Amino acid sequence: MRVLLIEDDPLIGTAIQQALKDASYSIDWTKDGLSGLASAQIEDYSLILLDLGLPKKNGFEILSTLREENSKTPVIIITAQDAIEDKIKGLDLGADDFLVKPFSIDELLARTRAVTRRNQGAASSILSNGELTLDNATGELTKGEDTFNLSAREFALLRLLLIKPGRILSKSELEEQIYGWNEEIASNAVEVIIHELRKKLGKDAIKNVRGLGWMVKK
Ligand code: CA
Repeated sequence: MRVLLIEDDPLIGTAIQQALKDASYSIDWTKDGLSGLASAQIEDYSLILLDLGLPKKNGFEILSTLREENSKTPVIIITAQDAIEDKIKGLDLGADDFLVKPFSIDELLARTRAVTRRNQGAASSILSNGELTLDNATGELTKGEDTFNLSAREFALLRLLLIKPGRILSKSELEEQIYGWNEEIASNAVEVIIHELRKKLGKDAIKNVRGLGWMVKK
């Protein structure tokens, strides 16, 4: 899952970026309102984390532009203080949730999971398919009686497939969702991750649809 962070504070931005990376999200970070809006308009994100006080264009302007353009990407607003006016304005403009500074990393991750889950129409953080069960909150994967340790990339890729069983994801879609900007991607990176997952879970766990991509069966 790919997340856009629009935040000009270097300390908060660095902390959020690291926390989301550790939780296997791919994250793009822009530090002013103009480039943030441009990124949100061009790229396909599962979530936008939006600071309000930003250089060049503030968070409210970004949110209202995106919603006017019919963007359905979930937005969590990061506010400096618990100002009720900001919350009302944000909700009216189409925000999905709020984080009030200072917030804990655990709260950031829980709200991120909740908002992206609602957007995908899932009721809980457990993704399951046949014998496979992936807990999005703890990162634990089980197959029948067995529990598996996944690398961050393996977890990120399998999570994308399990969100919508039956949907085929192409190599470029997977690359886009697993890697952020400035990350070197080997040409066979996706194939290597799939190979590792199949080694752990069995060949049939992930189906290759020739020429199109990969899926898990419905
Ligand atoms: Ca700010």
